[in-house]
Amino acid sequence: MAGNMRAIWKMEQKEGLLVGEAEIPKIKDDEVLIKVKATSICGTDRHIYKWDGWAQKRIGSRVPYIFGHEVSGEIVEMGKAVKGLEMGDHVSAETHISCGYCYQCKTGQEHICKNVKILGVDTNGTFAEYFALPYRNAWKNDKNIPHWVATAQEPLGNAVHTVFAGEVAGKTVFISGLGPIGVCAVALCKAAGADKVIASGTNEFRQKFAKDFGADILLNPKEQNVRKEVMDATNGEGVDVFLEMAGAPQSLNDGLAVTKAGGRVSILGVFPKPFEVDVSTDIVFRGITLHGINGRRMFDTWYKSASFLRSGAVKLEKLVTHRFKLDEIEKGFEALERKEAMKIVLEP
Ligand SMILES: [Zn+2]
Ligand SMILES: [Zn+2]
Repeated sequence: MAGNMRAIWKMEQKEGLLVGEAEIPKIKDDEVLIKVKATSICGTDRHIYKWDGWAQKRIGSRVPYIFGHEVSGEIVEMGKAVKGLEMGDHVSAETHISCGYCYQCKTGQEHICKNVKILGVDTNGTFAEYFALPYRNAWKNDKNIPHWVATAQEPLGNAVHTVFAGEVAGKTVFISGLGPIGVCAVALCKAAGADKVIASGTNEFRQKFAKDFGADILLNPKEQNVRKEVMDATNGEGVDVFLEMAGAPQSLNDGLAVTKAGGRVSILGVFPKPFEVDVSTDIVFRGITLHGINGRRMFDTWYKSASFLRSGAVKLEKLVTHRFKLDEIEKGFEALERKEAMKIVLEP
């Protein structure tokens, strides 16, 4: 397909973006061309928009380029080598484009591929009318799911990966950080039979979603002593599982302190810089299992997420608080800035 399209560019190494035009991408033999029906704004996009320390380091001088990576669209062109997909299929994108030949890829751990390229970070992304994607990264959506809902599967996938990295049935769980991922995690823990889910976040607008998605106890670390509240809520025992989704030093340290000896700590949050943790006291002597979570397992996490969508365990559509035209993208960033949004969906 030839011609021009609307696209959102990161033009310069500073805050901001440009609503402009681009050439419709030409696909390689192993790629599909996807017509974007809906694309949503992720925390990562906000880092890129604001051009914070992470974006400066991760992207640096590779501008101008088109960003965005959460998406749902329709296949409109297929390369010669594409298998298992058809024209008109509704698809989302697994954003980790793995190499296929490194140690991790060859041992079933493609999500932590050493040579990974991330869609919309290392390559041109989805804030456009069309984008090209390796066919192996296309995830076929059920056509009953509206595009504006299917685009929000990525955070659900992160939540599924984190929650089910260990057992939650019959366990007490503490979730810190109530963005779309944290709120999905609340719903998943409840669906999976968690005993008590304690959720903590500083944004009141977002706390309401956590309540709606089934949190038993809500905490605000700005106003409450999180350690005391969690211990009180668990008869002084602490929780079995702690899910760190805030990426704040205080959050991790509080969470470690309220996880009972022998418990599990799964960290999805990304921290702005190194900080102190009392490893001996909080982790070693208490036999805590601690691990990092990156992306989604390819593609077991996607199959699980699709099941939770079908069963209605996670009402993803409720998380979409705003729908704008693609050209109105800055309104989306403004709503996030005002802290009165969950998922913002853009429709070209
Ligand atoms: Zn994302
Ligand atoms: Zn690899």
